[in-house]
Amino acid sequence: MIPAVMPTYGRADLEFERGEGSYLFDRHGRRYLDFAAGVAVVSLGHAHPHLVEALTAQARKLWHTSNLYRVPGQEVLARRLVELTFADTVFFTNSGVEAWECGVKVVRKYQNATGNPERWRVITVENAFHGRTMSAISAAKQEKLVKGFGPLVEGFDQVAFGNLNELRAAITHETAGISLEPILGEGGVRPAAVDYLRALREICDEFGILLLLDEIQTGVGRTGRLFAHEWAGIAPDVMCIAKGIGGGFPVGACLATERAAVGMTPGTHGSTYGGNPLAMAVANAVLDVVAEPGFLARVQETGDLLRRRLEATVRRHPKVLADLRGVGLMLGLKVAPAVANGKVIEALRAQGMLTVPAGDNVIRLLPPLTIGEAEIEEAVSTIDRVCGELGAS
Ligand code: PLP
Repeated sequence: MIPAVMPTYGRADLEFERGEGSYLFDRHGRRYLDFAAGVAVVSLGHAHPHLVEALTAQARKLWHTSNLYRVPGQEVLARRLVELTFADTVFFTNSGVEAWECGVKVVRKYQNATGNPERWRVITVENAFHGRTMSAISAAKQEKLVKGFGPLVEGFDQVAFGNLNELRAAITHETAGISLEPILGEGGVRPAAVDYLRALREICDEFGILLLLDEIQTGVGRTGRLFAHEWAGIAPDVMCIAKGIGGGFPVGACLATERAAVGMTPGTHGSTYGGNPLAMAVANAVLDVVAEPGFLARVQETGDLLRRRLEATVRRHPKVLADLRGVGLMLGLKVAPAVANGKVIEALRAQGMLTVPAGDNVIRLLPPLTIGEAEIEEAVSTIDRVCGELGAS
């Protein structure tokens, strides 16, 4: 019999009752070190007092009014995001994929509104992941995402990640923009080279097409900068964010320059819940913390420490670990070909540590941005112990 919850996930048989900082506790009171953070969502750890206060204070006042009226929390958050980024304007959503879809609509509409209606195709890269709607899977094209769901949405062309020759060759008179994650997340924590990102910016300018960056996983401090593209010193035309900006509350946003959003006039896009007062209260509270002076520098220091410690771990266990990748606190341990990443993840879980699988036999480490040295030591010694046991067997 089909379970009442549609069985689309391969879930671990664990249920958590509460969370505190970097730890989750199950029904039996067992503690888990959370280096999954709800897949890069719980950016400030569980039950952060400032976020709890913001949410409960808003919950006592007003939950929802719709976008028929002004939502003050949206205006505040949008202004803050505009001040902190390349963007001039922001559309709020409930999830990552909606933010990405909005980004694609902005790209297409820009071309349409500026006299180039024939430009509607978007170039993506192999192993990209933008979510699970029909257009997001059509853009990613991976067999495991699209199998049985065709026909796919037209208008997405794909090139190899990091290959500029292929990219240039794929641009036609119909190309409207390029969509890219600065670090492929689901695709195996593969960072785009700084030169690649800079070249994408130049190519977009040369051909009159827009650069849409998907910072849903990499954004809001995850890499030690507010947004990962800042490491390359470039700015996109459009960017989608989600995950970390809500710290666990469902919220996303599509940010754009005034030029790119030229066609996004009243009536062109909408969402019942997008930018709801509860979401805005929490997201503003997240930004209070992440934008505090010194917060991002600390993420960089923490990320450097974790990286150094894990590099040594990889060297100690060549039978189990092949490589370490990533930036800041978005790290990926590539597992040696003879071992399945799922096996290591399961063994870590049995030892009280949560991590996330990714493509290319990688284990993603996405801890809360607030972790300290003690959690790093605990994580590294758990990984060491598990690799030692798996390497010996
Ligand atoms: N884009 C990237 C880079 C992601 O990592 C994800 C989620 O994992 C998404 C888009 C989709 O976000 P959501 O699941 O909130 O729709």
